[in-house]
Formats: sequence, C-alpha cells, structure tokens
Amino acid sequence: MPVFFLPPDDIVPPDVTVTGALLTHIHASLRTRPGDRLLVSDGKGTRYSIEITECSSRLAKGRILDTLREPSRTAPRVILGQALLKGEKMDWVLQKATELGADTIVPLVTRRSVVRPQASRLHNQQARWNRITLEAAQQSERWTAPTVNLPLEWTEFIGRFDDCAYKLLPAERETAGGIGEVSIGKDPEACIVLAIGPEGGWAPEEVQEAARRGFVTVSLGSRILRAETAAIAALSVVQSRIGELGRND
Ligand code: SAM
Repeated sequence: MPVFFLPPDDIVPPDVTVTGALLTHIHASLRTRPGDRLLVSDGKGTRYSIEITECSSRLAKGRILDTLREPSRTAPRVILGQALLKGEKMDWVLQKATELGADTIVPLVTRRSVVRPQASRLHNQQARWNRITLEAAQQSERWTAPTVNLPLEWTEFIGRFDDCAYKLLPAERETAGGIGEVSIGKDPEACIVLAIGPEGGWAPEEVQEAARRGFVTVSLGSRILRAETAAIAALSVVQSRIGELGRND
C-alpha cells in the first residue's frame, strides 16, 4: 500500500488534512471517496492509517485510525558526502541515494568542483533538493526522507565526523583496498560516512587531509567511474554489507 508523505503541520491528531499536489492525486487520479483508507506519513518516522471523511478538489480530510512507529534501527546510519555535480547529475544522485537508504546527504565544495554554490540561491536549492529526496522516499516507501544539508567546504565536512566509526573515501587511481574488504561494522548505533569526489576527482591534498581525519581511502576497482556511478556503487556495496539490501546475517 503506498504511503503518502504529508507536511507535519497537516497532521493534527485525530485528524489530517490533505492539500496541494497530493490532494490532486488522491482526488483526481485515485478518485478517493469518503470511507476509503490511506496510509500517510510525517516523513519523520511515524505513519498513520486514516479513513477519508471528505474529499473534494478543494480539500480532503481524514480521521486517524491507527498510528505506526518506525521499527528501531538495525543498521548504522549512512552519511553520503557528494561533491557538487553539474546539472541533473546531482539530482539523480540525491534520488538514487534516497532509494538506497542514505540517512543524510551533504553536498560538498571541493577544490576541483566545477559547480560552486551561489549564496543567493542556496536555500532555494536546498529546498529543491529536499523535495527530490522527499519524493524518492515516498516512492521507495521509506519511513523517513534523508536530509540534504547546505553545501559544506571539504575541510569543514571532514572535521564533522570524529565520533563516526567508519569514514570511507573512494578515491580513483589509488592502490587502496576494495570497498568490499574495508572494515565496517553493523552496529545500529554506529555511523558510516562515504565521500564521493567531483567530475575532476580529488586533489591529492584532499585525500591527505581526509586521512588525517580518519578517512580510509578505498578503491571501487580499476575502472574510473563517473561520480554519480561511484556514489551509487559505493553506497550499494556498503548497504549490502550492513544488511540494508536484504538481510545477510
Ligand atoms: N577525473 C578523475 C580522473 O580521471 O582520475 C575521476 C574522478 S571520478 C569521475 C569522481 C569520483 O568518483 C572520484 O573522486 C571518486 O570519489 C569516485 N571514483 C570514481 N572511480 C573510482 C574508483 N575506481 N575507485 C574509487 N573511487 C572512484
């Protein structure tokens, strides 16, 4: 059963209100009628089974029948640092990283980033990115949508995870161990950071700075992957290893 994300303000127990694009979808596309039941979510780990009490092109209301809480974590949190990429590539990484279960996504400004954030557009850009992850979280029936942070400079980013047990830096042309071999844990209280470079790759000093902050350089093989491919490949391997792509106890 699909789960529709609602703005938390539209959920006021025992009632919910449906507006905007979702209203159009449930009224016009799904032809929802009073008495029908839907699953809605606040996108922050709570779902509600509701019964529609009224539904028109202007407004839909529902009554909460049951409240469901997100099951407790069974795997570490995964934070993806992704160097800003040109055009739709960044949007694509945000969407796929959401489907693959990333918990937080941090856009990165690196020495070879072709794309530089513009202060005047930052907040609109972040809001757009979070709409992409919200839509992808809804489509993939996640309990929560990952947060896309404001872009961070590389040196600030690598300094934020001293309490994070596993920090992986996929770096091209390095003779490092494969990402499938590097030590990572499955403790739900732990966190795993992955950092993917820009189209131009990492500057040598960025790899050295990261190593000083505890990042372990890893290889994704001998082929040079596009940044967006590397993000999905690395995330997939890590998620598989911690049991997030099907249990592998
Ligand atoms: N312009 C760089 C070059 O030709 O060496 C390639 C950079 S690649 C397009 C972008 C990012 O993807 C890299 O900074 C790295 O994080 C990741 N990446 C791509 N291929 C990789 C590989 N074989 N091993 C590890 N990381 C890789």
